[in-house]
Amino acid sequence: IIDMGQPDHSVVTTCAYCGVGCSFRAEMKGDTLVRMVPWKQGKANRGHSCVKGRFAYGYASHADRILNPMIRERIEDPWREVSWDEAMTFTATRLRRIQDQHGPGAIGGITSSRCTNEETYLVQKLIRQVFGNNNVDTCARVCHSPTGYGLKTTFGTSAGTQDFDSVAQTDVVIVIGANPTDGHPVFASRLKKRLRAGARLIVIDPRRIDLVRSPHVQAAHHLALTPGTNVAVLTALAHVIVTEGLADEGFIRSRCDWDGFQDWAAFVADDRHSPEATALLTGVPAAELRAAARLFATGGNGAIYYGLGVTEHSQGSTTVMAIANLAMVTGNIGRPGVGVNPLRGQNNVQGACDMGSFPHELPGYRHVQDDATRAIFENLWGVTLSNEPGLRIPNMLDAAVEGTFRGLYVQGEDILQSDPNTKHVAAGLAAMDCVIVHDLFLNETANYAHVFLPGSSFLEKDGTFTNAERRINRVRRVMAPKNGYADWEVTQMLARAMGAGWHYTHPSQVMDEISATTPSFSNVSYELLEREGSVQWPCNDAAPAGTPVMHVDGFVRGKGNFVVTEYVPTDERTGPRFPLLLTTGRILSQYNVGAQTRRTENVVWHDEDVLEIHPHDAEQRGIRDGGWVRLASRSGETTLRAKITERVAPGVVYTTFHHPDTQANVITTDYSDWATNCPEYKVTAVQISPSNGP
Ligand code: SF4
Repeated sequence: IIDMGQPDHSVVTTCAYCGVGCSFRAEMKGDTLVRMVPWKQGKANRGHSCVKGRFAYGYASHADRILNPMIRERIEDPWREVSWDEAMTFTATRLRRIQDQHGPGAIGGITSSRCTNEETYLVQKLIRQVFGNNNVDTCARVCHSPTGYGLKTTFGTSAGTQDFDSVAQTDVVIVIGANPTDGHPVFASRLKKRLRAGARLIVIDPRRIDLVRSPHVQAAHHLALTPGTNVAVLTALAHVIVTEGLADEGFIRSRCDWDGFQDWAAFVADDRHSPEATALLTGVPAAELRAAARLFATGGNGAIYYGLGVTEHSQGSTTVMAIANLAMVTGNIGRPGVGVNPLRGQNNVQGACDMGSFPHELPGYRHVQDDATRAIFENLWGVTLSNEPGLRIPNMLDAAVEGTFRGLYVQGEDILQSDPNTKHVAAGLAAMDCVIVHDLFLNETANYAHVFLPGSSFLEKDGTFTNAERRINRVRRVMAPKNGYADWEVTQMLARAMGAGWHYTHPSQVMDEISATTPSFSNVSYELLEREGSVQWPCNDAAPAGTPVMHVDGFVRGKGNFVVTEYVPTDERTGPRFPLLLTTGRILSQYNVGAQTRRTENVVWHDEDVLEIHPHDAEQRGIRDGGWVRLASRSGETTLRAKITERVAPGVVYTTFHHPDTQANVITTDYSDWATNCPEYKVTAVQISPSNGP
């Protein structure tokens, strides 16, 4: 512990790690951050925090940070430090040259779930107004894009239905494909408090996560399914509810499309979806499926919380819709204590999606082909906007390899590490004429960049993040940007270098533009946020104080939409060469690819990724606890240490993905969600064998 002395002032801001969005008081001595203290008035955390938000901020002043812009003619050349003016002129000239030679659609950009709403709004504005196309995508592509698709299709809006306070009124909780104690620790504490007070818990997960059995908490049911069979399990639960007469017919008749319900009910009632048939597919005993379904349907207020174990599958969007079906058939929507709640991994995934980061949607989830919505932005921005949906990240990379996509602006995202098929990402980046990386550190993607624009940390800027419960929290500047400019100012510089007349002097003006153009934000302003602390969207004339619980009197789309969710097995199959299934997850002390948490001084952050193996599988292969293991798939191989444990079932292995050395994405496949291209990170056929080490 380093004694930093006594603070002389403090600033309230928001954690930049997970989607819980905890509020902190940053206690300062001059321009030095002394400590982060969880803020009791924070509505998401109510004075609680986890180790990451409280202690892992040292990366903001780490020596690895790049503070000056750099350019190079070719990616083989050494970097050359230049002034901001020279960097912007170089970048704008290259991007315009690409457009002259290859057309306006040959460039695009990627927004970051780590940046603020205002910064994200400006990146999509840059691409739509200045680049002149819809080639904007976001890192949510590889995590929660199926949430966007699934909840919009069933309920009418791409967001969780509840506030975190709601968990205090729940009676039965399903946690599926999420590990809140590691991934969303402060929410997990609130959930455990409710479980200790008597709520019942159903965990649907291939792995025995801590919530299944921990001090004072014991799940009523752990459905330890085979990875990749979520849809089959959820359909079997629905089968029991429908065939045993447990559906909430009153709710369904008044709130949902009745014809659609009848079609869906006939589908799930089919014998092929019975628990007995499903047990064979999923490995979950029929009696457990039946008992869990009865508990959820009859146990009182039922709430469902889920994570990437739902979305990162070839049927990710189908699984989200199956979850929504389960909530509707049991009447568990539209009041405190119930609902469907995606636990967002990054601090501003929700906000990045809200702000128009998808190539088919303008801010507020409105399709680019909606003439009235385009007209709002065209009038304000003074341009004619394209009504053609743009390219998703994988399509940008495909087009780059084909030679038709030549320039990419990447803000706050290391796509080489976080996106699937590392070789293909590298080939796409290497084929481009202008890759611009805007980040704190020279990340792996920067190896293929021609321009590096230094980024600013959350401590160095004003703005807002939107957490997993749609809560818009203020981010406040705690210290001056070490690189001279906050990220929103850098994007503005680039827009101006390309001829745009942007003159924002503070992010509050960007928020004013968001509220003027986006109905669900129409009452949001920095003045309101100062007064209220935070608000949950929709926040407009119909809900001036925000909306803790959605779909109270009716669904945003009108009637709730039951969708038939046929289980389709992934094309990734085990076989003699690759007989085991690998799935992945997080640990408490690390965050995503570790770019931030690995750059803190506390050694606790330097945990390594390990491979969890069932004793039976380890013994068969002569693998010992703590020894090195070669992990190989059809895509590639890596080496990790073994941890022998009964947390995983025989036939399943599990690892985290926080260290670049592990390169978990070298192992994973090219399969992706049928609707959104979200990669199938959670199911990979693998083989393991003893190794002498990396
Ligand atoms: Fe930050 Fe999430 Fe931990 Fe809260 S729970 S302190 S938001 S990482």
